[in-house]
Amino acid sequence: MKILMVSSEAVPWAKTGGLADMVSALSISLAKLGHEVKIVIPRYYSIDRGKLKLLPGAMGTPMGCGIQEWSAVYYTDMPGTGKKNPVKVYFIDHEIFFGRDGIYGSHAESDFMDNPRRFSFFCRAVFQLCRKIEWYPDVLHAHDWPAAIAPVYLKFAERVPGGDKGFKKTISILTIHNLGYQGIYGKGNYDYMGLGWDVFYNAGFEDWSMLNMLKAGLYSADKINTVSPNYAEETKTQAGGFRLDGVLRYRNADYCGILNGIDTNVWNPAKDKHIPEPYSVKDLAGKKKAKEALQREFNLPPDQNVPVIGMVTRLTDQKGVGDLFGPTYGSAWSICRDLELQMVLLGSGEYWCESEISGLASRLSNFKAKIGYSEKISHLIEAGSDFFLMPSRYEPCGLNQMYSLIYGTLPIVRRTGGLADTVENFDEKAGTGTGFMFDYLSPSSIYDTVTWAVWTWYNRKKEIKKMQERGMTQDFSWELSAKKYVDLYESAFKTQGIKAPKALGA
Ligand code: ADP
Repeated sequence: MKILMVSSEAVPWAKTGGLADMVSALSISLAKLGHEVKIVIPRYYSIDRGKLKLLPGAMGTPMGCGIQEWSAVYYTDMPGTGKKNPVKVYFIDHEIFFGRDGIYGSHAESDFMDNPRRFSFFCRAVFQLCRKIEWYPDVLHAHDWPAAIAPVYLKFAERVPGGDKGFKKTISILTIHNLGYQGIYGKGNYDYMGLGWDVFYNAGFEDWSMLNMLKAGLYSADKINTVSPNYAEETKTQAGGFRLDGVLRYRNADYCGILNGIDTNVWNPAKDKHIPEPYSVKDLAGKKKAKEALQREFNLPPDQNVPVIGMVTRLTDQKGVGDLFGPTYGSAWSICRDLELQMVLLGSGEYWCESEISGLASRLSNFKAKIGYSEKISHLIEAGSDFFLMPSRYEPCGLNQMYSLIYGTLPIVRRTGGLADTVENFDEKAGTGTGFMFDYLSPSSIYDTVTWAVWTWYNRKKEIKKMQERGMTQDFSWELSAKKYVDLYESAFKTQGIKAPKALGA
């Protein structure tokens, strides 16, 4: 199949979260399965044009109100995809929209005022790009609200009677990575999008007199999915649907969850370059070395006889930090005061939370935190901790719990979203489980579950070892998930009555 990924982020060029990792990793895996994959993202200011090739000629994109937007297009190959079937990455270069610091916003302006224009132009330009390179995809796969308008343009402007024949057999997929972000703006932005006002209602843009870009995409894409089966169910409920649960229930027949994979070349204790010594399920000696290195890194006394609880997280309410560090230190204060353990945290985010954490670290000798972002320290925390804490309020998929499992670090998580799909609660009688779970998010349930985990660590060494073994032998590779995406694409061809193309070399 010819697959075009439309995204606002892709590693190694632009990343604010798991979306960037997923788009590149899925593309690489699909190419390995024999499909022809291209990615298109905006050329942000931070992406060095010097390292890219330029497609000759400027590209004009007709928007609403008779505006023609001019842009340049750059391209390159995705690193590590080889010469035989490389993933080609295209960059839409529009100086006014993308020639600035920040992807969605900056410190001065947390959500750029012209985001609806920036990303609707980007989605429209995708079709011009296909015409320019004379390459029409079988599958247009859009990700999250910034790309959600692409399926709308396909359905209402391209795959229409009298439209470009190239897109007649193109099907569209929209993947939700986080339903909490929908791209809701004033209706005044709509004329610029160049779709008639009938489409405003037919495509589902209308949202209490505002314009909702994700909602329009969810109505218009041929199939929609999210990044774990359990999150797909949660988003259909009022509690987890961010006001779009009705839309998702309406699209139920075309909606599913596919678990993200992890990059097992980067996240693998047997070949991790960021830890002192590699280790595996057969020999955990390297994990002890990592624990010692972690304790030193955080200025904690090196001690193998005390459990270490690690956290690597964005400090936002989604991650449950309100209950963990909320008004005057939340449950973290009691956990560290009452229990014989050490706790380390790496993260950045909301100011109130950063300052609560700094206050806590100054009052407790067994709690240490680094505010910031560090790839190296995040690997060290995954390898050197005994437990990894993720009390998320909601979690579309979550990567850290999967990293923890294969690093032999037992996750302590709330039973929500992808966490519920990947972690199994410890059951001492049945001798099963890979982590410790709780249902309701509150300071006391975090406290109780951490206490349970720490008690087990001190008193049930054998059980802990067995749990580690079960976690470390799980398969979270992308290969499995990429095949599920191929099935999803095929089902979209079926519902659209289009004959699915055969995979290259498959
Ligand atoms: P989300 O995308 O909601 O932030 P995920 O668990 O899906 O959560 O992915 C977050 C990714 O970002 C993980 O790979 C995690 O290790 C990484 N990460 C988050 N905060 C930091 C940080 N401060 N330093 C290093 N890595 C971080």
